[in-house]
Amino acid sequence: MAVTLASTVPLPGGVSMPVLGLGTAGASGRACVAAVTEALRIGVRLIDTASLYGNEREVGLAVRESGVPRDDVFVTTKVASKDQGVRATVDACEASLRRLGLSVVDLYLIHWPSRRRRLDAWKAMERLLGLGKVRSIGVSNYMVRHLDEIREAGGATPAVNQIELSPFLRQADVVDACVSRGIAVEAYSPLTRGRRLDDPTVRRIAAACGRSPAQVLLRWSLRHGFIPIPKSERPERIRENAAVFDFDLSPDGMGALDGLDADAHFDWDPTDVP
Ligand code: NDP
Repeated sequence: MAVTLASTVPLPGGVSMPVLGLGTAGASGRACVAAVTEALRIGVRLIDTASLYGNEREVGLAVRESGVPRDDVFVTTKVASKDQGVRATVDACEASLRRLGLSVVDLYLIHWPSRRRRLDAWKAMERLLGLGKVRSIGVSNYMVRHLDEIREAGGATPAVNQIELSPFLRQADVVDACVSRGIAVEAYSPLTRGRRLDDPTVRRIAAACGRSPAQVLLRWSLRHGFIPIPKSERPERIRENAAVFDFDLSPDGMGALDGLDADAHFDWDPTDVP
């Protein structure tokens, strides 16, 4: 069956995660509420926030007032590095739930693999799952050795690893490790934060498809089985970024995009985090 905006991927525990979402980093106040509201109106069902973004109140307000049944919306938030630890992470999750005005989040992520406290934070994530405060748990910015560390400690396998991914940053080693362990791969900064939308190869493929460069990057993500979470505060771009299920990229187009890999991070680079 064809993948659509309503499609989901299965996570452990019977949880279904939408295949594309809305990112909210940098969105605040009314603009954030309006962006989430528009995304939900047009059928986007995954909303990504973090305590670090300072917009959980706005995200929660928009979700609660959207008219979309709570069970149909997939809300992700994340524990910041300063809150990593066994007790601190449980407290941070409860504070996030209060700000969101929700009784449960669908996915709770460790935002960053903080060197000393990430294993304690993972224990807290497992506890939060048991307490029913979160429906699934995962990590973000985890490289292969960070995933190995959880495995070696006997921890539960993360449901999701949210990492920066675009044709310019394919992170094949991490992606392969996730796929082989059954970890869903979520793509942040899938639009390169806007920095490579004028790349000649991307533009050529976009022109050939009659689509925008942003849509080409998102289609590339979906074709690889990643879950992209493009961020926009502009209604027309939110609609554009969701309209990526009625065209496809040719094998040549995919090959050309894959060939753009240059290990180019446009956001945080966790490569050297021990
Ligand atoms: P994106 O790659 O999603 O790019 C966002 C930028 O592109 C914004 O400047 C936006 O501007 C612009 N843009 C959006 N749509 C279009 C379009 N169709 N055409 C042209 N420009 C467009 O970057 P982000 O870094 O925001 O990543 C997405 C999300 O991933 C974040 O919002 C956050 O939720 C998550 N994230 C997670 C991280 C982590 O460590 N776990 C780190 C970074 C991001 P405008 O708003 O004006 O439209």
